[in-house]
Amino acid sequence: MPASRSKRIDMLSNIDDATLAKVAGALGEEDAVKLVDILKNSEEITDDEIANKTSVRLNSVRKILYKLYDHSLVSLRRTRDPKTGWFIFHWRLQPDQLEGFILSQKRQVLEKLDVRLAYEKNHDFYYCYTPTCKRIPFEEAVELVFRCPTCSKPLMHFDNEKMLNALSKRVDQLRKELGE
Ligand SMILES: [Zn+2]
Repeated sequence: MPASRSKRIDMLSNIDDATLAKVAGALGEEDAVKLVDILKNSEEITDDEIANKTSVRLNSVRKILYKLYDHSLVSLRRTRDPKTGWFIFHWRLQPDQLEGFILSQKRQVLEKLDVRLAYEKNHDFYYCYTPTCKRIPFEEAVELVFRCPTCSKPLMHFDNEKMLNALSKRVDQLRKELGE
């Protein structure tokens, strides 16, 4: 077996359910899990075959495949059906790209969490403790004379330590996963 082929199989076996779920979530396509799972277990496969195996509608299969293709997660080979003259599309999973895709997703999440964490750290919050109302940073609360602009209840200090801890933990975890 050539080294590149065995490397590919190695990478494919590393794609677990959690990875599939992350990819599907990032694409906003629940059915992507089923597709990648089928792709994972085939060397190359056509959209028709995927639709038959997954019971996902052919239109949806194609839509998801093109989304995966946009992120270079699958490659595409085109042949012509000798009988009908129509194009047949053969899809193939690119497992090495999958890892990069997940890493870049994680990086994006980390950036957002970092911004959020800095915001939580740098502000003192006031809150009316009405579940549907928002917390208000100190500077704004002063201007509002410590009255909630939504429900008019008094604004009281809000301790965001728990929130800070939870955010810090997620940031640390992500950094570890990203090897930073
Ligand atoms: Zn309120």
